[in-house]
Amino acid sequence: MSNTKIKKTGGKTAANWGQGTICIQAGYTPKVGEPRILPIFQSTTYKYEDLDQVERLFALKEAGYKYTRTGNPTVAAFEQKITQLEGGVGAVGVASGQAATLLAISNLCRAGDHIVSASTIYGGSYTLFNNTLSKYGVQVTFIDPEAAAKEIQKAFQPNTKVLFAETLGNPGLGILDFDKFARLARENEVPFIADNTLATPCLCNPFKLGANIIVHSATKYIDGHATSLGGVVIDGGNYDWTTGKFPELTEPDPSYHGVRYVESFKNAAYIFKARAQFLRDFGACLSPFNAFLFNLGLETLHLRMEQHSKNALALAQFLKHHRRVNWVVYPGLEGNPNRARIRKYFLKNAGSGILTFGIKGNLQAAKTFVKNLKVATLVVHIGDARTSVLHPATSTHAQMTAPQQLSAGITPDMIRVSVGIEDAKDIIADFDQALHTIR
Ligand code: PLP
Repeated sequence: MSNTKIKKTGGKTAANWGQGTICIQAGYTPKVGEPRILPIFQSTTYKYEDLDQVERLFALKEAGYKYTRTGNPTVAAFEQKITQLEGGVGAVGVASGQAATLLAISNLCRAGDHIVSASTIYGGSYTLFNNTLSKYGVQVTFIDPEAAAKEIQKAFQPNTKVLFAETLGNPGLGILDFDKFARLARENEVPFIADNTLATPCLCNPFKLGANIIVHSATKYIDGHATSLGGVVIDGGNYDWTTGKFPELTEPDPSYHGVRYVESFKNAAYIFKARAQFLRDFGACLSPFNAFLFNLGLETLHLRMEQHSKNALALAQFLKHHRRVNWVVYPGLEGNPNRARIRKYFLKNAGSGILTFGIKGNLQAAKTFVKNLKVATLVVHIGDARTSVLHPATSTHAQMTAPQQLSAGITPDMIRVSVGIEDAKDIIADFDQALHTIR
């Protein structure tokens, strides 16, 4: 089992480092003569001293690598860096953001259990909960995250095992009321899982705001260059699993030599169980090459998130006054109700890089606008260095009926923009010229 505990580095504890230093230095400390840059350990297997050592590894009595499906040194370096950035006790890298969400839930729930989730989550997570998990006997109740706590409380049942929400919702762009969600989770004695993909640890630290588990689609800002699929689950080490509600963490695991996760791994029990069971059984592991690219992405995440946020604010301010634009939603924009939550819960007063706006005219106007963009491009993706746009009604949400689209907040005039880190003036000029091509 790989070890993601925070290392001491040259007498200075890496835990004291600032965000930028963690982004660049954490996770990999070469010894003299070793490569300065994190190597890609493109190996499925590892060599051992003798049978006794292998026995200790398989009995989880010694830390080390067995097989790349359950751990790899390049993947472990990425896991350690993101663990430090989020302020957790351990992480497991997986094949995609979808796999991260599936792991986070299935590590706690079995047939007959129930979860409460914000309805304003990424469409793929919604479908996973609503259709696929229900086929395996895990039921979900979706709640409006802006509803009063009293209303949300009605969704909890005796078999509820998880409260799930996104820090910054995709594509609604609402910022979570962390105080309310942390209180609901505490009062109902369930762990609170936050998807921090759109905010990233550089803009929001959910563990400090009451979350117990964090998931990411690393495919987005963590990669930052649209090269790789991946995800990660981070354990905050701040949930008491011993209340009797989670026997799989406290009782012997017959599939793993009877190990008791809490007894053996203390406050990192959740993440050790995730690696031991999920990676072993589902096999949705992160490739070493993608982990290498995510590590490179993390090296500049702190700088990129500031620039994405500055550019998005500048573009939102420009679009707000454009005569061919009906409306603009950006959490950092003056007049947006989420601005106060940015000040309360986010770092650097920054609102990340995603905005949506309504284009004046019919579908043809949207088509003309998108076709005439020269700097920005049409892609089904968010969170990389390049500015990109999407028309959700005719793409990601096209399978829905018009009323279903409206209830999901998707209007026919909506353009979603993932604002890149090019020069803001060039992005604005590009949007301006493309808007002027509409007749
Ligand atoms: N979570 C959020 C907030 C997302 O936006 C996405 C993808 O867009 C996912 C999870 C799923 O990630 P992936 O595409 O890496 O599977």
